[in-house]
Amino acid sequence: MKLILLGAPGAGKGTQADIIKQKLGIPTISTGNILRAAVKNGTPTGLKAKAFMDAGQLVPDEVIIGVINERLQESDCANGYILDGVPRTVAQAEALEQAGIRFDAVVALEVPDQRIVDRMGGRRVCEHCGASYHVIHIPPKTEGVCDACGGALVQRKDDSPETVLSRLEVYHKETEPLKGFYEARGVLKTVEDLPTVEDTTQAILKVLGY
Ligand code: AMP
Repeated sequence: MKLILLGAPGAGKGTQADIIKQKLGIPTISTGNILRAAVKNGTPTGLKAKAFMDAGQLVPDEVIIGVINERLQESDCANGYILDGVPRTVAQAEALEQAGIRFDAVVALEVPDQRIVDRMGGRRVCEHCGASYHVIHIPPKTEGVCDACGGALVQRKDDSPETVLSRLEVYHKETEPLKGFYEARGVLKTVEDLPTVEDTTQAILKVLGY
């Protein structure tokens, strides 16, 4: 199963991907997590990406295409994967297609902008493994500590209110056109945001036929 989770920043892609990957037994590939690790480790990719990420802008397509092509060649991707946060432009979608990849489903998570803005202030991520939490909606068992790996939970720099608004603008302009791209290929499924994480997971599994 090759799956894309499409949606605005803060729509819940990472949270849902982490739940669904357990059910499907395939890894989640998040370019955001790969890039944050690269920035932290000061790699050449990290150095190229940092200023774009801090400003809430997209990292250039050629950097992303290199990162994703390399990651998808690793052995854990052999039986499929869930892409979270990539592709984010039509150029990235075309590059994946040119690499011969066909997706079984592209799930678009629909969340109104205002709800995104309200949610982002409470988001916390694990510094170590990238797992995502929310201070009210998805709290960790121990405040400030990742349930999965014990890492410290921090607020992302690009979750500040001003940066969230520019990220939403970038999403509508650059990423939303991907819905039409994948609709034309007959694989687009739309899921409305539901009151709880569990309800949304069930809705996603249903459109995937589980
Ligand atoms: P995310 O964790 O998916 O919200 O990504 C955080 C930031 O990383 C984004 O705001 C971009 O600056 C960068 N980024 C992650 N994935 C991509 C992508 N597919 N294309 C361009 N930039 C990306």
